[in-house]
Amino acid sequence: MTGPWPTGTDDRPAIVFDVFRTLVRFDGDHVDDDTFGFLADWLGYRGILVDDADLAARFDATTQRHLDAAPGQPPDVEVVGVWEDVLGSLPDPRERTGADRRDLATELALTYRQITTRTLEVWPGTEEMLAACQGVRLAIASNTQRVYTRAELERLGLWDPFEVVVFSSDVRACKPDPAVITTALERLAIPPHRAVYIGDNAYDDVTGAGRAGLPTVLLDRGTPVPDDVVLEEPLARVAGDDPVAAVEIARRHLDAGPRR
Ligand SMILES: [Mg+2]
Repeated sequence: MTGPWPTGTDDRPAIVFDVFRTLVRFDGDHVDDDTFGFLADWLGYRGILVDDADLAARFDATTQRHLDAAPGQPPDVEVVGVWEDVLGSLPDPRERTGADRRDLATELALTYRQITTRTLEVWPGTEEMLAACQGVRLAIASNTQRVYTRAELERLGLWDPFEVVVFSSDVRACKPDPAVITTALERLAIPPHRAVYIGDNAYDDVTGAGRAGLPTVLLDRGTPVPDDVVLEEPLARVAGDDPVAAVEIARRHLDAGPRR
């Protein structure tokens, strides 16, 4: 093998998956004034007194500052770091240490996710799709926060099947920036031609994987895309209710051989 890619000892090909609307059905991000009212109250019980609107303004300004400093196109933040900075800007009569503040920021981030999420469940057909991947290495490359989605995948039984999991919060870049997918390949120690991406988004996923050098099988689940972008052709497009077909196409492309 030549090129910049580290080559590992496991020469099996890999399928790299998107998470939301690919493996998981999710309805979330329901953020409104009540969200920050609840969180301000939550902090009040832990000794930190802040007004709802002030908390929202500090969170928004800190998020923007972190986005401005992030390398991605588009960028992402690591939200626990955002909350740590917000907490660091508020008087804390308990004078928490840095580690204790980090723990509080983690709990605050999880609470924010919990109260803004309505639905979180395995997408029908995901188990069959993963079962069809036997003998192939599995990875995730997803636009989301590690602090939330590791817990979500663990709850849904979707953490252990994956050898490598990279989130946009890890690299502070969102698909279609290739960094999320490229980092997954680097951790798998395989070159892009030994992997296929499976996702539902005709822009973020197809373009992001293309920039990382690998083709995408698009699960057509009606996911909207921006109207001002050029869409690239995926390797294949399969009906959203037939995810096993996506794996079969990926395996044929990778010439992974029969299922073991
Ligand atoms: Mg998706």
